[in-house]
Amino acid sequence: MSHLENASVAVIGGGIGGLAAALAFSRFGAGVTVYEQAEELTEVGAGIQITPNGGRVLAAMGLSGQLDAYSLRAQAVQPRDALTGRAITRFDLSPQTPPYRFFHRAALIDLLGGACRQAGVEILLGTRINTSVTDGTVTSDQGLCQHDLVVGADGLHSQARSLLNGQGAPFFTGQVAWRGIVAATDMPSVANIWMAPYKHVVTYPLKGDLLNVVAVRERTDWAAEGWHHDDAPANLQAAFADTCAELKSLIAQVQTPKLWGLFRHPVAPHWHRDRLAILGDAAHPTLPFLAQGANLALEDAWTLASCCAAAPMAEALPAYQAKRAQRVTRAIAAANANARNYHLDGLQRRIAHAGLRTLGTLAPNAFLKRLSWLYDHDVTASFG
Ligand SMILES: Cc1cc2nc3c(=O)[nH]c(=O)nc-3n(C[C@H](O)[C@H](O)[C@H](O)COP(=O)(O)OP(=O)(O)OC[C@H]3O[C@@H](n4cnc5c(N)ncnc54)[C@H](O)[C@@H]3O)c2cc1C
Repeated sequence: MSHLENASVAVIGGGIGGLAAALAFSRFGAGVTVYEQAEELTEVGAGIQITPNGGRVLAAMGLSGQLDAYSLRAQAVQPRDALTGRAITRFDLSPQTPPYRFFHRAALIDLLGGACRQAGVEILLGTRINTSVTDGTVTSDQGLCQHDLVVGADGLHSQARSLLNGQGAPFFTGQVAWRGIVAATDMPSVANIWMAPYKHVVTYPLKGDLLNVVAVRERTDWAAEGWHHDDAPANLQAAFADTCAELKSLIAQVQTPKLWGLFRHPVAPHWHRDRLAILGDAAHPTLPFLAQGANLALEDAWTLASCCAAAPMAEALPAYQAKRAQRVTRAIAAANANARNYHLDGLQRRIAHAGLRTLGTLAPNAFLKRLSWLYDHDVTASFG
């Protein structure tokens, strides 16, 4: 029997983490309301990689049959020297089960939002919650509502996180990123990681003949946080002016680049109290260099819902944090290490590239084996 039968769960935030939590709680028998401050469920124009560990959660929530309509299956990841354009090696992703996928963010939100509505989840848009108590009450302009559990999936600037952990400002990581989507036909389903000293670019195709471009460079001066700051294309082009012709030509096609600073909090020490729990970026924002922020949010969502289905709340919430904290801390450390590895210079760079080349030739499966702790993990295993 699920402890969530007839329970009422509020989810603050209709991002990937919040919608996944809403769907998971609903699958375990709860009545769910999502409160989202934006007027519509939407995401910025950018791609997102969903790795097998996140894909297992989508499958457990009954979405497997729709995934090919919403995303591309990834064939490979290819580290490249951004200065010469040469592929350093190529790691085959095609044997991954469930498949490694490239989504447009808006498509993933569409998929999750549609599934939530079909499952009877109530989604209240244009509703900003003021999280000031942990007793299951949510307060908005429309008034006050009582729930058995409130899930704070309210992202990097989470009020729920502050309530549980005190105020703490996110810190600038010394990296800025530009994003853009360009038209591109007949692209292989491959993620290219173009590495240069102190900067890199990731490109991968999206459904609809598009190519997602994210360019990152180290910079000591602060750049504004957030996804919506326009920058002049010339600034992006100047930052990558010393790279190979193929990459420069891709970058030149980004007509309306968005520039923002990459910020982080440390992993929150406290993920729950009374009737409030947090997940996703609210609990543990990560740098994007391992493509795990959303995947970890999917894992959190399933783990939190399944813990609450299996035990009374007072046991379930500590069990949830205990199952998750070590894993997300490890993933975040690995993403931080990638930031350093992608940006090497001089001799270190030559040695690292030679190492990657040798690994790709002598032990092509070693790359994925090294990541098996991440990709092979199945948070849904004991609940089917
Ligand atoms: C460049 C870049 C590339 C990335 N690529 C990947 C990738 O390939 N794979 C991957 O797994 N991750 C990736 N990530 C990370 C990923 O985007 C995030 O970790 C993930 O989107 C976090 O989801 P979330 O639901 O926790 O938070 P958010 O997406 O931030 O959602 C929070 C939601 O809460 C709402 N909200 C906030 N406060 C309130 C309030 N008080 N009341 C009501 N609503 C509120 C917001 O409007 C928002 O909709 C990337 C990140 C970056 C920056």
